Amino acid sequence: MMNSGDLMNSCRNCGASTLRELGFIGNLAPFFLKRVYRIELATRISSHPFKRFIQKLTAPIQSLVSRIQPAIAAIEMQSCLNCSFVQSKFPFPEEGLARLYADYRSDSYNKERCHYEPYYAAIANQIGQHTERGLDRITALTKWLESRVNLSEASMLDYGGANGQFLPNVPGEKYVFEISDIEPYAGVIRIADASQLQTYSYIQLSHVLEHVNEPLIMVRQVAAFLAKDGYLLIEVPQDSSSDFLKRLQTGDLNCDVGVHEHINNYCELSVQKLIEAAGLQLISIEAVPVENPSAKQNFIRALAKNWQ
Ligand SMILES: [Zn+2]
Repeated sequence: MMNSGDLMNSCRNCGASTLRELGFIGNLAPFFLKRVYRIELATRISSHPFKRFIQKLTAPIQSLVSRIQPAIAAIEMQSCLNCSFVQSKFPFPEEGLARLYADYRSDSYNKERCHYEPYYAAIANQIGQHTERGLDRITALTKWLESRVNLSEASMLDYGGANGQFLPNVPGEKYVFEISDIEPYAGVIRIADASQLQTYSYIQLSHVLEHVNEPLIMVRQVAAFLAKDGYLLIEVPQDSSSDFLKRLQTGDLNCDVGVHEHINNYCELSVQKLIEAAGLQLISIEAVPVENPSAKQNFIRALAKNWQ
């Protein structure tokens, strides 16, 4: 089946066909390589005695060289001239991404990730626990929304939101669309099958779009479940600065882009263009700083309205 990615000529975030080829600058993290492609980078001991002797002799030098000049698994990337979105030239295999996220953030995920990326152990427990402006995540989101729109008695859906615990703290019906069988948070009803989805006056896509091959297709699908004048909240991490993404886009910079658990790199411009391309009206957008030292990246929060 063809999708927009197979055509290789359009941005999977905004639909524009103006892309700059960046070459093999996508640097696949070892854990990503293992989970998505079932591949590990390896060196082998030679079966030839003399070669084996040389290998043994030069091992310390090889180890030093590989630290200074590591071998990486590299893929071709593209930058969108319309929205600064950086994407892999070829979409990742869907079944591979499903394997990557199958047990996301559970013990088995953390254990395997730490095997490939030992530094992850230090931050695994703190991920998702950030505060902003001295407030916990739910209080901060609730305040931010209340200063912009009236959500009282809304029907709210957290799309792909695990147990739904990060929905805003306002009265109303609360649902989470989640295919894994995680226990929903108190007061939240889990919908496990897309055919059961209704229309909602508020939907959030919180830290979801950085994980999907086709963000524009997903936002269009989700927007179809918005009531007229309903709101869509998008939150995505900002792993690279807007300046960095802009310099990739203009060809001013030629350096690696890491591909790990986040396959998409967002900035305010790309979120804004995504919302517009999905036919929604942008109400508010902001880069939000987070405070705990373990969460290195800030994130972008945007609110859009279904005005049609
Ligand atoms: Zn684009």
